[in-house]
Amino acid sequence: MNLRVRVFAVVAMLAILIFAAGAAAQAAPQAQADITKIPAAAQPSDHFDVNAATDAYMDLMPASAKAHSDAYFEGGYWLILWDFLVGAIVSLLLLNLGWSAAMRNLTERITRFKGLQTFLYWVQYLVLTSLLGFPLAVYEGFFREWKYGLATQTFGAWMWDQTKGLGLNVLLGGVAMVVLFWVVRKLPRTWWTWGAVVSILLMVFAIMIVPVFIVPTFNKVTRLEDPRVTKPILAMARANGIPAHDVWTVDASKQTTRMSANVSGFGRTMRITLNDNLLRRGSLEEIESVMGHEMGHFVLNHIYKDIMFLVIVTVLAFAYLRWSLDWCLKRWGAKWGVRGVSDPAVLPLVVLLASIFFFVLTPVLNTQTRTEEAEADMFGLNASRQPDGFAQAAIHLGEYRKMKPGPVEEWIFFDHPSGYNRIHRAMQWKSQNLQLFKGE
Ligand SMILES: [Zn+2]
Repeated sequence: MNLRVRVFAVVAMLAILIFAAGAAAQAAPQAQADITKIPAAAQPSDHFDVNAATDAYMDLMPASAKAHSDAYFEGGYWLILWDFLVGAIVSLLLLNLGWSAAMRNLTERITRFKGLQTFLYWVQYLVLTSLLGFPLAVYEGFFREWKYGLATQTFGAWMWDQTKGLGLNVLLGGVAMVVLFWVVRKLPRTWWTWGAVVSILLMVFAIMIVPVFIVPTFNKVTRLEDPRVTKPILAMARANGIPAHDVWTVDASKQTTRMSANVSGFGRTMRITLNDNLLRRGSLEEIESVMGHEMGHFVLNHIYKDIMFLVIVTVLAFAYLRWSLDWCLKRWGAKWGVRGVSDPAVLPLVVLLASIFFFVLTPVLNTQTRTEEAEADMFGLNASRQPDGFAQAAIHLGEYRKMKPGPVEEWIFFDHPSGYNRIHRAMQWKSQNLQLFKGE
């Protein structure tokens, strides 16, 4: 459920020039609640009550487990702010200390080819910003994950993943930089429209290579052979018009205890993958309900809709960049030693302005994603007919996601419906389909 969102986030970053390839692999948590039995109030009966059934599932989660995941998730709200502030400070340092101009000057001494200058600037920029951002990154990505029992990696293995991510960023981000700065140089007046077009093409390419190139860099992706699991999943796929022959699984337990599944790719590379945590810890009913949800993303064309949404966001982002870059460069360009929008030394300013744009847009992006997730939930319930499996999944995902936020909190911060709302909808579905569960 989670990687699609991650890919989406990565891709949104690309709209502002950064081709962040490293964030592909991780996705969705640690078991505390005993969810193997359907609680009494959720059993089919003539007096089935949706609210009572929902509360009975909520009560399966001990208060300490809820407090634990609330703390983890609410900490994430603050991290959005800290990430934004640290990023802003790093950008301002690079500009005001003249480091950005110095890095550009160095590339000009090394070569006279503009494309190569852009690439060499990018390599220096990435290494320097990775170093400056390292303390926050290591807290956020390593120590905090261990503190909440979500990590499985040693520090060395984590560092190796970071290094590979950086390498991918050098390579793929470098290509994107060279192309985008070429567009800006060649089309000094219309760069922002063509920049948006090129960015969208690069994003579609990025989405396409995620399952076949990016994910295998970090994890092993294999065909699932267990017919006990694959048979009902493939039957559900065919029943819903998905011509799938294989079910894919990824060894996410290498990095995390989180359970998840996702739809990734574009066109011929599009596929549904479930991770080994889900496979190991989820009941068959739960796995079916999650796979039904993922098939919902597939059948409801969410990847194509995401791309349409990205087109709008990207065009807006570039229009805003054109205006705000001019405004800033007029005032401080000379002081920073930045010659104009086609000068690679402008990059920290682009990143700063884009991060303001996406910071402000957080609730909008989350709401777009959350709306699709709710659609996929409904599809998944109808396709799998496993409301109890779905409630189990919601509790498992509640290991790292607050179960019952307030409505405004959900609107701003949640990129999936909250656990409470998901269980409530599943119980609502069950209440109208009680005849299916007579034999329970
Ligand atoms: Zn989903």
